Amino acid sequence: MKVVLQNLTKRFPDRNKKGGDVIAVNDFNFEIPDGKLIGLLGPSGCGKSTTLNLISGLEAPTSGKILFGEDDVTRLPPENRGVGLVFQNYALYPHLTVLENILFPLQNLKGADKLTKPQMLEKAKAAAKLVQIDGLLDRKPSEMSGGQQQRVAIARALVKMPRVLLLDEPLSNLDARLRLQTREEIRRIQQETGITTIFVTHDQDEAMSISDMIVVMKAGVVQQIGAPQDVYDKPVNLFVATFLGTPPINVFDGQVKNEKLFVGNQAVLPVPGVKDQQVVVGIRPEGFILDEQGPLEVSLRRVEVMGRDTSVVSTHPASRNAQVRSIIPARNRVDRNAPTVRFSLMPDKVHVFEAEGENKALWASPLDQ
Ligand code: ADP
Ligand code: MG
Repeated sequence: MKVVLQNLTKRFPDRNKKGGDVIAVNDFNFEIPDGKLIGLLGPSGCGKSTTLNLISGLEAPTSGKILFGEDDVTRLPPENRGVGLVFQNYALYPHLTVLENILFPLQNLKGADKLTKPQMLEKAKAAAKLVQIDGLLDRKPSEMSGGQQQRVAIARALVKMPRVLLLDEPLSNLDARLRLQTREEIRRIQQETGITTIFVTHDQDEAMSISDMIVVMKAGVVQQIGAPQDVYDKPVNLFVATFLGTPPINVFDGQVKNEKLFVGNQAVLPVPGVKDQQVVVGIRPEGFILDEQGPLEVSLRRVEVMGRDTSVVSTHPASRNAQVRSIIPARNRVDRNAPTVRFSLMPDKVHVFEAEGENKALWASPLDQ
């Protein structure tokens, strides 16, 4: 089921009655294609949960529309929208068994949707099997791990075969290993069922790894929408460039003079077509090439061996961060005692942004177009 947001806006009155209202969701216009997994990504407070709550019907928009397919659902109550919801805290009924928890949404169906006991059991067992907890149906939630409880919550959301599955930071309560495992599970379940799924997270790694498409948000405003790799490779502004990637992109003050890009006073790349101005330069950690003749010289602080590759930690006077981090292949040895190291740069890993305003992208490497 495709989901369309049209001029969708949600204002909350200011809680402290001081400044103006909070615009949690500011004029969203985008379409979530049928059968895809979309990651809604942004820092805490940027409006992710509010967007999800508008789609589920838990919140009413201030203005704008929500369509499921051709169906305008903007005024429909949540129970009539056909959505499945999963939150960070699993919100299972503690006194009910796993099976009873999963059955619960089926027991309140009315009229034509009403099911017989055997039909309900069949659906609940199918949902349990899908999330691989069919061996635990008689347990109480307290007798299960966090990861297992979250699977029960997902089964409960899936048991009515929703038109849209909405997941709000579903992995936040799990430890690191379970988080990895469960996100892959969510991807598998989504692909097996083909249910259009919206996955909210503040963790870029999580969103990038399982989404067909990510929507990067900041302060209630959509910044960029696209396939994860495209957004990573072609960020539209400094915020998006900084938000995606671990370790994060290195940020420098720079300028363009005579179509040359300077980081501090070092000319690092030709940037044909860009007019003279102050700029902000972002260089991905993997964009540095160890090169004695290279144009960018940094002061070496330390070298961290990571096995597959090596992390060179340095400083540079034009860096906006305390440290510059470069990731190079492990076979390229760095002289740990050298005071400085020189690099050349991969043009497609260098991003140039306006120094003012929203720091919009100014230039993309010809390699990258
Ligand atoms: P996220 O899920 O991205 O962390 P939220 O959607 O929860 O962000 O919140 C977005 C903004 O809206 C925040 O500034 C938050 O304080 C505000 N907000 C959310 N819900 C309410 C509410 N019920 N009343 C007032 N302000 C709210
Ligand atoms: Mg939230």
